[in-house]
Order: sequence, then C-alpha cells, then structure tokens
Amino acid sequence: MQPLNPPMIANAGSDADAWRARDLAVLWHPCTQMREHVDHGAALGSGDDTLPLLAVARGEGAWLVGHDGRRTLDAISSWWTNLFGHAEPRIADAIARQARTLEHVILAGVSHVPAVELAEKLLAIAPRQAGREPLAKVFYADNGSAGVEVALKMTFHWFRNRGVEGRTKFIALDNGYHGETLGALAVGDIPLYRRVYAPLLAQALFAPSPDAYLCEPGESPADRARRAADGLRDLLERHGGEVCALILEPRVQCAGGMRMHDPLYLKLARELCDAHGVFLIADEIAVGFGRTGTLFASEQSGVQPDLLCLSKGLTGGALPLAAVLATQSIYDGFLDDSREKAFLHSHSYTGNPLACAAALASLDIIERDDVIARNRATSARMTGLAAPFADHPHVADVRQAGMIVAFELTRGGDRRTPFDPALRIGLRAYRAALQRGVLLRPLGDVLYWMPPYCVDDDALQLLARTTREAIDHAIDEAAACA
Ligand SMILES: *Cc1c(COP(=O)(O)O)cnc(C)c1O
Repeated sequence: MQPLNPPMIANAGSDADAWRARDLAVLWHPCTQMREHVDHGAALGSGDDTLPLLAVARGEGAWLVGHDGRRTLDAISSWWTNLFGHAEPRIADAIARQARTLEHVILAGVSHVPAVELAEKLLAIAPRQAGREPLAKVFYADNGSAGVEVALKMTFHWFRNRGVEGRTKFIALDNGYHGETLGALAVGDIPLYRRVYAPLLAQALFAPSPDAYLCEPGESPADRARRAADGLRDLLERHGGEVCALILEPRVQCAGGMRMHDPLYLKLARELCDAHGVFLIADEIAVGFGRTGTLFASEQSGVQPDLLCLSKGLTGGALPLAAVLATQSIYDGFLDDSREKAFLHSHSYTGNPLACAAALASLDIIERDDVIARNRATSARMTGLAAPFADHPHVADVRQAGMIVAFELTRGGDRRTPFDPALRIGLRAYRAALQRGVLLRPLGDVLYWMPPYCVDDDALQLLARTTREAIDHAIDEAAACA
C-alpha cells in the first residue's frame, strides 16, 4: 500500500503557516520548550529546523485534518484521552443536547440528571473484589491531577477525622506519574517534571517499581512483581503508621515510558495495604475504559482499590472531567456535626453537566459497540505488526498491554546502553513520523502506539511502516550529526 500522504513537512501550506504564526505570537503550549518552536536549530542543535507545530483544522475518526486537508494519524489518542475517534457524532450530539438543556450548575446543594446517572453507571461497572465493600460514592473533579488531589486529600482527612494525626505521608512507586499540580507532583517520580519544584513538594515515600523492563536476567515479570512487593513490605514495616495511602498506576506506568508490570503486583500491594491499614488509590486515569484490554486495569489483578481515579478517556476524550470513586466507609468518615470534618474540596465546574453527558454517551458506546471485544481483535493485529520490531538492531524491548504497544530504543538494543539523551533520538523520530503523516509523541526514547479504538487496519499498517522509517531516520540523522 502507498502511504496516504507523500513525505513532506507537516501540513505545509499558506493557511497552516498563517495559523502557526498567529499561534506562536500568542500561545504558550503545555509540556513544551517553546524555544524549540521559535528558534532555528534549538531542538536538534544543528540545521535550521524548528520543532514542527501541527496546525489542525478538524478531527475525523483516528485522523487530524490540517487546513490544507492533509491527514495525520493521531497514534497517541491526543494524550491518551480519545477512545472512539475525533468528533464522534454520538458524543457530539449528547453534548449539544445537554448544552440546550442545562450547560452548567453549581453542584453544592444542587442535583442534576447527568451527574446522578453517570455516578450510578460508574459505580455499576467499577472493579469489584469478593469480600470487600464495593465502591459506593462518586466525587467529581475536572481533570486528572485534580482527581488525584481529591483522592490524596480524602485519605489524609479521613484519618484526621478519626483523630489519627500521625498519618501524613503517601507511598508512591518509582517512575510513577499522577499529574502536574503540586500535590500530584509530590507523588510523581519523573525527574524532568518534578526536580525543579522539589522544594515545594510534600514528602512522599517511594517504593520500587514492579516494571518488567527492569527484570534481572532470568527473572520473570511475576518474580519482579514479588521483588517490588518485598520492597513495599519493607517500607510499610518501617513507616506504615505514618502513611495514609499507596497511590499507583495499575498495569502500565504510562508517562514513565509505558513501562508495564505483571498484574500480580497489584494483588500483593492490595494485601500489604490491608495488613497495614493503608488505603489503596488506583490511578486509572490513563489505563481505564478498555485501554489495557479490560474495562479497568485493576480487573486483571482481581483487585478493588479503596479509591479509583478516572479521567482522560472518561468522556471519550471530548471534555475534561474526573471522577473519584470511594467506598462507603471512606464517605462515612466525613459525616459529622462539624463542617471542618466535611470534605470541602470543590471546583467551580465540579460535575459539569456537558462533561457528564459526554461520559454517559461514551459509556453507552463501550457497551453498544462491544468495544472491549473489538479492542481484543485490534490489539491482536497490533501484536502482529509490532513483532518484527523485536529484531530491530536498536530496539531493546517491544511490550504490549491491550491497546498500548511500546518500543524502547537503545544503542545496539541493549537495555544497559540508552542513547545519549542529547542525541534526541525520540524527538528526531517524532519529527520524521510527523513528516510522514503520523503523530507519535515519544516519551524520551520510548515510541508507543496508543491509537483511538476505531483505528482500522490500513491505518495500523501505515503506523507500523512509519514507526520503522522514523526509527531508522532518527538514528541515521543522529549519526550524521555526531
Ligand atoms: C494524565 C495523567 C494524570 C493527570 O491528568 P491531567 O488531566 O493531565 O491532569 C494523572 N495520572 C495519570 C496516570 C495520568 O496518565
């Protein structure tokens, strides 16, 4: 098959150029060294290129369409938010209907239909574990980081309300990520995002990551999970009485480089939390809603957390919304005569009706279109297309969890010899893929596929071909510059 787009600079053309200029005159983009967009040579240290800025006019399924009509495959589901493709008509209709009915209303002292229906629905589909009290209450926030803040504050406050003052810390995992606000950043362990703000951050304790990429020779992912759980046990034995909660990303540490671990770990972590009276917060903001093959990743471990954080795919990728699901016991711990014992946390847009309506439409699509079963077939095709990469001389690991496939690029394919970060292999691959009509946004030198669930076979083949070309191009280009 021919590439759908001829190799060329991402949506070149006068309209796109005009939009880029207007953009750079006024916008400050997230997670971006802006100098790389405006200063020639700043991104790659040589040549006169700037980092490309993809100007998008509209979205259509798995594709982003430029002002000149040129299509770019959104291979990362727009930061892992999109489930069924862009401008999904059923979600768009639900939002439009809701906008004409009730666009927003204060949620303190007020009830509205989408907030109630969505809470009922989320509680009905949430992970369950025999013998454990189910998740019973939903607290809304308006983005993932805010949802994480809610969960952290709830566990701390719950202990306070019982007169326990010594539990002031959280345990998080090495290489974990929970968002960018100061509370969420405090339980994150990605130096690039965290280091500069370290003086502002609350103290957290970090337990070893069960990351299967870090297996010793001969060690299985399950062995690695057991070894990481031993580390968690040590930490809890020393500090258990000071800890409110363990927060972790089940199955895949996404921002940490799509590092995956054996589901056994969550089961062991659940047992350890129970033994030490510590709450378990599952951050399924990135992995929820079918991304890893089951509706929620925790299901693969047969585990129910005490608090479940959801966002990103919650609305199918259409609007910002977060939901924190909690047990009845946690909720009951705030019932009191005192207002200070109440959970007074709030956001102006808590439980926004438009976002709740989008989420209800999204959950309806998951059911009606049998999305989990269809994803199983799509992820099997992704497995087949990813397999040949294992033989690539600079690919150290190909790993997959459902609709996520990741490629770890290293020098000579050896896990102990990462590329010099200054070579910016990932960034070079990003640029090369964009020129070929595919939006990848590597995490360092980890390239990954995390496409919308509606991605078809032609698009997956373009993705596989382009990924290989982009890797080869990046390595050749870096070698030529060195
Ligand atoms: C993206 C992400 C967050 C933060 O969500 P935002 O909406 O970007 O604030 C938190 N946890 C995980 C696991 C995430 O992937």
